[in-house]
Amino acid sequence: MKEVAIIGGGILGLAIGYELGKQYPKFKISLFEKETSIGRHQSGNNSGVLHCGLYYQPGSLKAKLAVNGIREMISYCENNKIEHEICGKIVVASDERENGLLENLALRGEKNGLKGLQFLNQSELKKREPYVKASKALLVPQEGIVDYMQVMESFSAFIKENGGQVYLNNKVNEAIPLKDGKILIRTEHFEKDYDLIINCTGLFSDRTYTSFTKKKSPIKIVPFRGEYMHIAEKYKNVVNHLVYPVPDPNYPFLGVHFTRMINGGREVGPNAVLALKREGYKNTDISIYDTLDSLSYKGFLNFLIKNFSFAMGEFASSLSASAFVAKAKKLIPEVEEYMFEKRGTSGVRAQAIRSGGELEMDFNIIKENNQIHVLNAPSPGATASLSIAKYIIRNYIS
Ligand SMILES: Cc1cc2nc3c(=O)[nH]c(=O)nc-3n(C[C@H](O)[C@H](O)[C@H](O)COP(=O)(O)OP(=O)(O)OC[C@H]3O[C@@H](n4cnc5c(N)ncnc54)[C@H](O)[C@@H]3O)c2cc1C
Repeated sequence: MKEVAIIGGGILGLAIGYELGKQYPKFKISLFEKETSIGRHQSGNNSGVLHCGLYYQPGSLKAKLAVNGIREMISYCENNKIEHEICGKIVVASDERENGLLENLALRGEKNGLKGLQFLNQSELKKREPYVKASKALLVPQEGIVDYMQVMESFSAFIKENGGQVYLNNKVNEAIPLKDGKILIRTEHFEKDYDLIINCTGLFSDRTYTSFTKKKSPIKIVPFRGEYMHIAEKYKNVVNHLVYPVPDPNYPFLGVHFTRMINGGREVGPNAVLALKREGYKNTDISIYDTLDSLSYKGFLNFLIKNFSFAMGEFASSLSASAFVAKAKKLIPEVEEYMFEKRGTSGVRAQAIRSGGELEMDFNIIKENNQIHVLNAPSPGATASLSIAKYIIRNYIS
């Protein structure tokens, strides 16, 4: 029997625990989460969207895993009675330049295997979204929304019902290779040796890698906070679908968009603000250690130099509600500040940056001896979590 330790109780750690338990019932799975409940970071603070693979470079891991991932996630939700809805998404171009980008996006989506993509004419758009202003609009009918917290609870229940353990409030501090090939895991409350360990620590993936392997991480995580505003109940019918702008192809962020929530609400966001703390959910959350860690990294400084105006624009939308609403107005000009409730929730993305300052666009997973490290798993990591888990098992464990 193999003893496997998974570090991190976000959707990836839990999906891997679920898939491993299903495929290898004899493996003994222990999942360690530092918080007192699962899904407290990226996985519990995202947009709740099921992405189907429109955006990603054909042939990339993201493209491959998102297309299968949405099918697998929907089928999981259907079989486990998890709330979800395939409400469709409309991607909106606002000018001539964006029209071209949107056409390229549609071609990319088709290359990635998406079905049913359709450019809407103005009257078709008006019927679906009376308030959306577009010079060109693309309907992506396969996309939808889901309650990822319910998905994670369900994975966790499966792991426990099948003889595994989910240890909460158990930060893993050390992993020490032993002479017999096993690895000793030391948490705040616990010590035990394992045959295989899987690092799914999200915002800390690089530090966990260095701590476990004693090597410099090939990437550095830089935290980008995404803030949301909620539309007040009486104005929520201003939007019916998921409505997204055409994303800037230079960034892995999708731009401030309108999201229909699984609880019936509507929200707008997220922006992408450089955070001064890895788990910094507010502007006032500052960690001197994290800030110095980012500032002393050549890749981060290179990123800032190359992307100064992007960073400042996002920061402005964090400080000023009107700058934030201006981003939403690009899609629906009728929205006004009074239609939003006071500042809503936020999430922090773990975004890997390479030393040259390039943002790592694709998923990045590596294996070193009996350690697997998920170094970069940004959006659509939640949608694709089951297919990422299967990919890891197929390539690194089977
Ligand atoms: C604002 C935002 C919007 C997004 N929107 C979408 C979307 O609509 N659709 C989509 O598919 N994806 C979306 N994503 C991406 C998606 O949420 C992530 O890809 C996914 O949640 C990554 O999961 P994870 O398990 O790797 O990370 P996390 O959820 O961050 O989990 C990592 C876990 O590791 C724990 N941990 C860290 N260090 C230790 C340690 N030493 N010991 C024990 N535990 C530790 C943390 O507490 C945490 O719970 C979004 C992300 C953000 C932030």
